[in-house]
Formats: sequence, structure tokens, C-alpha cells
Amino acid sequence: MTTAGNTFDVVVVGAGISGLSAAKLLREIGLNPVVLEARDRVGGRTFTVSNKETKWVDLGGAYVGPTQNRILRLAKQYGVKTYKVNEQEKLLHHVNGKSYHFKGSFPPTWNPIAMLDFNNLFRTIDEMGKEIPREAPWKAPHAEEWDKMSMLQFFEKTCWTNAARRFGTLFVNVNVTSEPHEVSALWFLWYVKQCGGTMRIFSTTNGGQERKFVGGSNQISECMARELGERVKLQSPVYRIDQSGDMVVVETTDKQTYKAKYVIVATPPALNLKMHFNPELPPLRNQLITRVPMGSVIKCMVYYKENFWRKKGFCGTMVIEEEGSPIGLTLDDTKPDGTVPAIMGFILARKCRKLCGLTKEERFKRICEIYSKVLGTDEALHAVHYEEKNWCEEEYSGGCYTAYFPPGILTQFGRSCVKWVESAAVRSGRRNPSPRKWWRSHL
Ligand SMILES: Cc1cc2nc3c(=O)[nH]c(=O)nc-3n(C[C@H](O)[C@H](O)[C@H](O)COP(=O)(O)OP(=O)(O)OC[C@H]3O[C@@H](n4cnc5c(N)ncnc54)[C@H](O)[C@@H]3O)c2cc1C
Repeated sequence: MTTAGNTFDVVVVGAGISGLSAAKLLREIGLNPVVLEARDRVGGRTFTVSNKETKWVDLGGAYVGPTQNRILRLAKQYGVKTYKVNEQEKLLHHVNGKSYHFKGSFPPTWNPIAMLDFNNLFRTIDEMGKEIPREAPWKAPHAEEWDKMSMLQFFEKTCWTNAARRFGTLFVNVNVTSEPHEVSALWFLWYVKQCGGTMRIFSTTNGGQERKFVGGSNQISECMARELGERVKLQSPVYRIDQSGDMVVVETTDKQTYKAKYVIVATPPALNLKMHFNPELPPLRNQLITRVPMGSVIKCMVYYKENFWRKKGFCGTMVIEEEGSPIGLTLDDTKPDGTVPAIMGFILARKCRKLCGLTKEERFKRICEIYSKVLGTDEALHAVHYEEKNWCEEEYSGGCYTAYFPPGILTQFGRSCVKWVESAAVRSGRRNPSPRKWWRSHL
């Protein structure tokens, strides 16, 4: 183990949840990592703001549900509690200019043909997902065929009704903040499978949106950073990684250099384009980073004096299928003790790109107008506060929630994402080395 000057066992680039948890793991096994973070804060795509109007608000990643065990375990370890997102009252589906209330995860339809079509669509997505290996989606029996297809083409092939195609579009928009024509069917089907299937990914109760962290999701990164102390260096954007000698030399824009035996780059792949690598990245990895864009989203929080929607029997979830509506999906964001009534809404994909040019005030006004229309009351027009975060403008995220794979990329370049795991497995003679054991045996 080494600590001389700026020499460490491992340099971790990025103090988001991934980078910090990697550094935490390394510390726990007795190694000496340093974490270099470009921003003046930790947490990356999670971002909690505190002020008197909101108490606290998550403007980035916030929701957790069953199967997200690692983050739930971290939260428990730090005493960060979760609470259930309100879904007690009725949900609303706004389509063809009208609002329909419903219970459950997906809006129902009374047209029997459309009902069959919806069932077939979601069953097909889940059934195809079963054929896709979790660790190697490019090895699916129909990988090439499905990867050449966009989700738009998939909907054209699978759906008979416009209702199912239109809802499918919203389903892609909400889950991966991009458009059906932009994403590979293989990648999207794999993504949905990884999240537990169509029901779990879209649901609040027993699904991905079931819970939030009391006090905000960023606390988890802050707790890890506190534990790591001086090892986390903020305002340290990495721009050069030189691995030509015995040690890796990592340089930041303020001309600090850090040396280590290994480097972990825990940033979205496309941000590696800001870094200079010596030796150059392997060819497929080098091309991959120009081919995995980030999604587009503005997270919008509207605050009210009173929780009028619950009084009207609505829980705050609105599924909005209207081209003119800025927002596609909402959830109640009132605090768990009932204070600070608020509705969270996402401006997604094409709408995000379109509405980026408006002022914050214009977006706020349009959002209140659609909430008033969907909830059927002028009370929605009288909001008392508004917060939003446009993730497209974030230099060190490049967009959100996550990177997506356009058609044709996963089968051609996906393998380069897991290359190090495979090479580690080969060297250690095991197929699936535990990261702990791997680091122990290599340092
Ligand atoms: C609006 C929104 C809603 C979301 N909703 C959910 C949700 O409900 N549930 C869920 O599970 N997930 C959600 N996500 C996604 C989730 O937030 C991310 O998947 C997760 O936070 C990613 O963590 P990470 O550490 O892998 O990456 P990041 O958080 O992106 O961390 C990477 C870090 O690297 C830093 N960095 C970048 N370039 C450099 C450089 N050159 N040098 C040094 N540092 C650099 C960045 O500043 C950043 O801190 C959402 C995201 C957003 C934005």
C-alpha cells in the first residue's frame, strides 16, 4: 500500500454514487484510494437542494424500489430512511383531451381490441427480455436482428392500434428519456428486463418509483464522502490519464497529478471524450464513447399551499398523453409528514429539447396549466413555488437519466464495456471474480 505525496493505490474519477461506493469498498479492504470529482459537490446525477420553500428537494435521481438492494443497503448503513411515494388515491390518465381515473400501474382501456393490443405489447416486451442474457445482451439468439431495430420499428411491428403505439412512445420517453426511433430495441428490452420487467419499471407500488429517501438521495453520497474525508477532491476535473509507465498518472485541469497502480473511471462513457488517454483506448472502447449519448430530461417540481388533489381523491400520479403537454408523468412529492405539498413532473426527450429554449417562468406557467386541465381545477394554477433542473445543460453529466444505445451499437461495441471484468477473470483463472478478491490479489 502506498501513500507518498500524491501516490495512491487507486485513483477513482467521479464522485457519484458509483465512484464513491468503489472508493468505499477499496477503503474497507485496507487500500488507499483518492476520488477526483469535477464538480464542487459530490453525488453527480443525484442532487438534493435545501431551501425554506421546499425543505429539501431531489432534482436528480430519487426513486428506489424492490431489487435496488445495494443502494438500499448503503442507505440503511448510514441511517437514511425511505418513505413510500403516495399512491393511495386514484391515478389519472389524460388522453384525447380527457382525464380518466384508475387504480394500478397501467391505465386501463375499455376498447377490447386496444386492451388485447396493450396486453400483447407488454407481454412481448417481457417475453423477448427473457431471451436476453443479463451480462451479455449481445449474445441473445436474435441479438443482431433486434439491435438493428429501433423501438419505433418494434412498435410498428408489434402493435395494431394507435393507442398502444402512442402509449409505447410514452413508455420509452418515461423510462429512458429518449424517443423510440433513437433507441435500439435490443438495448431497451434488455434495460426493461434489468429493471424487473414492464410492470416493475413503470410501477410505484412494488416498482421502481415505490420509495424516496427522507431528506434526499444525495445524503448517501455525502455520507460516503464524509467517510472518505480528504481522499475526495472536489473541483478536480480529470483531463489526462497516462498509463504508459509502471504507474497510472492522472492529471486534473488545475495541473495536479495523482499516481496509482489502477484507475477507475466512474463517469458516463461519453464524458471520456473530455479525457486524453495514453496509450489510446482500445479501438472499440474508443469508438463506443462517441456512440452512447445521454437522454434528455428536465425535472420539475411545483409547490402548492394545499394538497388539493388528494382532497379530490387523486394521489398525484398523472400519465399525460398530449403532445402539447410539457409533462409526461407526474408523482406526488409531498413530504412524508404531509407538509410542503408538491407535484413532481418530467419534461422528457423531444419535449425537453423543444422546451429548453423557454424561460423557467414560461415552463412553470405551462406546467400549471396542464395540471389544471388534467386535475380539472383552477387550484392547480395557483402554485406558490417552482424548482426545476435541466440536466441537458450539465457539463459533467451531458444529460440524464442515463446513457442510451442507439440501434446497432450494443452488438458491435457492448463487449468493450465489460472487457476489464473478462480480462480480470482470465488472469485470476475464475469466470466471475469478486471485486474484493480481485483488488486484494492485485495490490
Ligand atoms: C432527473 C433524474 C432522475 C433520475 N431518476 C432516477 C430514479 O428515480 N431512480 C434511479 O435509480 N435512478 C435515477 N436516475 C439515474 C441516477 O441518478 C444515476 O443512474 C446515478 O446517479 C448515476 O451514478 P454514477 O455515479 O454512476 O454516475 P454520476 O452520478 O454521473 O457520477 C459521475 C461523476 O463523475 C463526475 N465527472 C464527470 N466527468 C469528470 C471528469 N472529467 N473528472 C472528474 N469527475 C468527472 C461527475 O461530476 C459526477 O459526479 C435519475 C437521474 C436524473 C438526472
